[in-house]
Amino acid sequence: MALEAAKKIKEKFGELIFLEEYLTDSDEGRAFNVTTSSNIFVNGQLVAMGIWLDQDKFTKYIQEIVGETKQIKKDVVRHAGYDVVIIGGGPAGLTAGIYCARARLKTVLLDGAGLGGQVMTTDNIENYPGFVGAGSGELIKNMEGQARRFGLEIQTFKRVNQIQLTGSDKEVRAGDEIYSAKAVILATGLKTAELGIPRETELRGQGVSYCAVCDANYFIGKRVAVVGGGDTAVEEALYLSKFASQVYLIHRRNELRAAKILQETAFQNEKISFLLSHIIQGLVGSNFLEGVKVQNLETGDTSRLEVDGLFIAIGSRPHTSFLKDIVALDEHGHVIVNDKMQTSVPGIYAAGDIRVTPLRQVSTAVGDGAIAAISAERYITENRKEE
Ligand code: NAP
Repeated sequence: MALEAAKKIKEKFGELIFLEEYLTDSDEGRAFNVTTSSNIFVNGQLVAMGIWLDQDKFTKYIQEIVGETKQIKKDVVRHAGYDVVIIGGGPAGLTAGIYCARARLKTVLLDGAGLGGQVMTTDNIENYPGFVGAGSGELIKNMEGQARRFGLEIQTFKRVNQIQLTGSDKEVRAGDEIYSAKAVILATGLKTAELGIPRETELRGQGVSYCAVCDANYFIGKRVAVVGGGDTAVEEALYLSKFASQVYLIHRRNELRAAKILQETAFQNEKISFLLSHIIQGLVGSNFLEGVKVQNLETGDTSRLEVDGLFIAIGSRPHTSFLKDIVALDEHGHVIVNDKMQTSVPGIYAAGDIRVTPLRQVSTAVGDGAIAAISAERYITENRKEE
């Protein structure tokens, strides 16, 4: 099982291995400090992504890498003299990067993985003005190209785990590297939420998934279920209908929350069946998911739905665990900002899905990114005058 495999890899290689804490919000995740999702870092560097973990193959691979990294002296590498460090390379971070670079600020953008963030889990973006049916990959590639043309430095696979505010510059730490800058823009976005039902963690990657675009391919001609009633759930169901033979959309209320246009498209799709006012009570299957136990909340009846895949799409949590004692967060962990995107700390700004906001869209994220960059520029200029 994926969790077992991840645990064994962690036990074998100890502190050298850092398994990204997708599960930190779950009891199991906290207990083992591992995740079944194999976003695996060695010495702070991402070496593998994806949730389908073959333990033997992976152990061999890690052995080779650890063999190499042990040769490397683990001194901290310092990168000083930046005006701005942007953390996160989704639409908000990349837009901030474009504006900072155009303002001739010496700026580096750090991303824990490749660029794009959550938007890369959507296959098609239909509501970003001016890009009719843009693929998310294309949109991000364009943003990246634009930012690089203006001179933005982009460093991918640098996972930031700490910010220090002791000196006059802010210090941003990613593994063994420290970037210091006058201002920081936080744009780390969101990570997907867990349902919190028994065996969810154990069957993650063994039929339980959080990303249709990533995993739909494994379910060609099979039956799958999606849980959730928002835009993501409906988009996932629509996407999965291109691969699976049957898609069940399970939602706890008797109406969906998703945009009406998405609902209309889904209702017309013959492969999608709706189980409204239903909840998932449990997962069936020993090594791999074989079905889900559902309950009809209106009648109280319970039944078993035979599915090979369950896609959980019940919203997201902000990626802010490394910010807890640094900037003010709301009760859900979103960063609190003012209308200039300034956080509780002067010189630290937040943009996009990570912040407290009534709307989380690509269009709102890019606006935030632009404001954050201009605010950072003004902060730096004013501080220079005072010096
Ligand atoms: P969301 O809008 O927060 O919806 C989450 C859904 O999951 C809701 O239907 C909620 O039910 C359900 N849910 C939450 N906790 C649950 C639980 N424990 N058990 C069962 N169901 C649960 O999240 P989202 O769909 O990921 O969207 C997040 C944001 O991104 C939204 O602002 C959305 O508009 C945006 N987005 C936009 C697009 C687009 O424009 N194309 C695409 C994707 C996402 P209730 O309805 O009962 O609360």
